[in-house]
Amino acid sequence: MEEKLIYYFSQDKCEGNAEMKSLLGGKGANLAEMCNIGIPVPPGFTISTSACKSYYQGNGLSDDLCSTIKEYMTILENDIGCKFGDSNNPLLVSIRSGSVNSMPGMLDTILNAGLNDTTVIGLAKKSGERFAYDSYCRFIMMYSNVVLQLDHQLFQSIIDNERQKNGAKSLADLNVDVLKRIVCDFKKIVHEKTEKHFPQDIEEQLLSSVNAVFASWQNERAVSYRKIHNIPENLGTAVNVQAMVFGNLNNNSATGVIFTRNPSTGEKKCFGEFLVNAQGEDVVSGVYTPIPINGKQENTMEKLMSSVYQELCEVCKKLEVHYKDMQDIEFTVQGGKLWILQTRSGKRTAEATVRITVDMVNEGTITKEEGILKIDPKIFDNLLHPVLEARGDQKVIGKGLPASPGVASGCVVFSASDAEKAAEQGKKIILVRLETSSEDINGMNAASGIITARGGMTSHAAVVTRGMGKPCICSVNGLHIDKNGNFFSVGDTTVNKGEPITINGGTGEVMLGILPTILPELSQEFKTIINWIDETKMIKVRANADTPKDAKIAKEFGAEGIGLCRTEHMFFASNRIEFIQRLIIADDKTERASALSKLEEMQKSDFKEIFSIMGGREVTIRLLDPPLHEFLPDNQSTIEKIAKSLNKSVESVKNKIVQLSEKNPMLGHRGCRLAISHPEIYSMQTRAILSAVDELKKEKKAEVKPEIMIPFIMSEKEFILICELLKKEAKNFDVNYSIGTMIELPRAALIADKLAKHAEFFSFGTNDLTQTTMGLSRDDSVNFLNSYKENNIFENDPFEVLDVEGVGELIKIAIERGKKTRKEIKLGVCGEHGADPRSIEFLIKSGVSYISCSPYRVPIAKLVAAQKSKCAWISGKQ
Ligand code: PEP
Ligand code: MG
Repeated sequence: MEEKLIYYFSQDKCEGNAEMKSLLGGKGANLAEMCNIGIPVPPGFTISTSACKSYYQGNGLSDDLCSTIKEYMTILENDIGCKFGDSNNPLLVSIRSGSVNSMPGMLDTILNAGLNDTTVIGLAKKSGERFAYDSYCRFIMMYSNVVLQLDHQLFQSIIDNERQKNGAKSLADLNVDVLKRIVCDFKKIVHEKTEKHFPQDIEEQLLSSVNAVFASWQNERAVSYRKIHNIPENLGTAVNVQAMVFGNLNNNSATGVIFTRNPSTGEKKCFGEFLVNAQGEDVVSGVYTPIPINGKQENTMEKLMSSVYQELCEVCKKLEVHYKDMQDIEFTVQGGKLWILQTRSGKRTAEATVRITVDMVNEGTITKEEGILKIDPKIFDNLLHPVLEARGDQKVIGKGLPASPGVASGCVVFSASDAEKAAEQGKKIILVRLETSSEDINGMNAASGIITARGGMTSHAAVVTRGMGKPCICSVNGLHIDKNGNFFSVGDTTVNKGEPITINGGTGEVMLGILPTILPELSQEFKTIINWIDETKMIKVRANADTPKDAKIAKEFGAEGIGLCRTEHMFFASNRIEFIQRLIIADDKTERASALSKLEEMQKSDFKEIFSIMGGREVTIRLLDPPLHEFLPDNQSTIEKIAKSLNKSVESVKNKIVQLSEKNPMLGHRGCRLAISHPEIYSMQTRAILSAVDELKKEKKAEVKPEIMIPFIMSEKEFILICELLKKEAKNFDVNYSIGTMIELPRAALIADKLAKHAEFFSFGTNDLTQTTMGLSRDDSVNFLNSYKENNIFENDPFEVLDVEGVGELIKIAIERGKKTRKEIKLGVCGEHGADPRSIEFLIKSGVSYISCSPYRVPIAKLVAAQKSKCAWISGKQ
């Protein structure tokens, strides 16, 4: 059977529904669904993503597709009762993109197609001359930009000119004579630039518009957006052809955007903006600053159009309950009648996500599990963003709309390309723009924060930054940007390009300089969600924490234990590093013993503190694993200091450093190899751990059973030798402990059955396991991995996303073989992959009982672990 290319939607006849997103795109599927549930939607039809795929397979707009479009236009004409191209009663249509994943503003749209020099007169007779020419102006401008690829600014500057000349605020304030003049000027530009007249053939207008919308799938900004948001290239976009309704018909008409709850705070109150006598693009373009839907202001929609506003609120309620999610809705009021043009799940801030989820569960609209499943793990990252330290001495130089929360500091740049260049040099920057457009997407991605002079809470800048989770302030009052892009000024303050500022997207404040930040307090709603997550997930989430300070943060963020305490990291502090350096470059046992006794003291007190903070939760301590190159001193003053403390000449210390330097340190004298040559190091550490446990026990402060972990094991004999060493030391203490190994080398994975004879637990060190399985340096491979991604050899960086095919297979082998010898062996993961949402599902399935990641990532890892534990809900066990 031939594939259906087009699907009709109207209240009476609807061929699609919300489940058909992959075929109809998000917009098309939701338009159909809204028709199905009785929401007032102008009728139309959706050209499917299959047609788009066929377009890109080289078929373009096939004859078959073109004739089906004509058939569906006839159905639409009969439905509406007016004809496309009719000189008395013309049907006008919009042609809108609609991809499967929302890509706000990235793809093209054309409104008012079907207007030419004849139909405009018909429209004028029917609905008024001013309106008809207003629509014609808009159509020529959009069509010329999208289809004829002419610069939008060529047209906008003519409008701006006329606005200035006539003292008008917007197109709506220009009279019909001016509009007619603008139409003539527009047509002249088209002729000048293309050497052709503006197309009068309405069929050509329609088909070229459909063609252009398909083509926009591959425009630069859409390609970049897909890269940033990991959207597959081959999905294609659907195209929606829909009867026009007109927000620009008269002063009883309007257009706007409404969120069913506040997308910044999550407050349960409709939130939105609208413009009277305008068309949709005016609201989202950021060129005009729209008016709030409701609130204290005088001229809100609630006050100006109260009955339509009430109707709109009812639609909001109905859609929210139907979709079980907060909705972002586009609407038009034509002569007092409400029409809904789009609904989709609204983008929201992290704070709003949390509040909305908890509220909706409490209201009974969704279940806890549905709530958890809906949360995008990235938003948890944003919630843990630092906030400004309250100091009272911050000079606020400007204020605007708090469009996307968070605090960011950086040097000022004025163009997207400058933002990209600066970010490439590793600089933090704030992008300052009049308004942003889709062309700025890469610059916005590179910037830490954005401020604009124009635009409202639903402008491009606001929507896109909210999606990216970065701070943004729109319509900063009195912000003036130098036309050469050298400085901006607000009030009497001038800030030059390159100077640092700080922005607070939560309050809308712009401040001078780089201001200190602190960690945020976690809200009650956040804690509620974390409790629900804990009830749901099937594995534990521990943290990688090396110091008492890390342990505190880990506990605060809900870590259920410490999965990796890298003991060498306890000495990173500037007043401590010298001791580990002394240990490494010591020449003999006596020198080493002196460094070790200092280290033992420090470690014991740190361990005691960490154990107390974790209050009996499991703590895995890894014995020293310093890849030597990370710790060898490389500057003269440290070398001199160490020489002095070891009573040696600077020269001899330098010689020792050269002697210790390795060609391949990552595969060198590290991990347990260090203890094979210098067993006293691990003996000291065992003493430090067990005496800390012993003292806490005696002080009745905590009952701890530490898990002592040996790094970089490759052979059974190696492990036996070290176990004996540890056990000999442990004989002096009456405490519980267990000994286990990291699995970081393919050989360790392969001999897991033998290791499990002695090891009570395995922890997969997937950083080294990736490095050694793939033969890829974890330090240097970034330099060439990009070309691997570009050539589709790897989809992702294997140090970020677990290589399931290779490294994953070794994990499976190790688990299977380890369990053969020790059925109840404890299994965990402590490499970076433990926090990667894309890797967690595999890790859960492979049978590990916990994952461990940096303290800040614990909430995300917990969320994903809960999302991936769906089977537990289905069986109703949890
Ligand atoms: C690992 O290799 O995955 C690991 C956790 O150890 P480190 O990163 O300290 O080498
Ligand atoms: Mg390692």
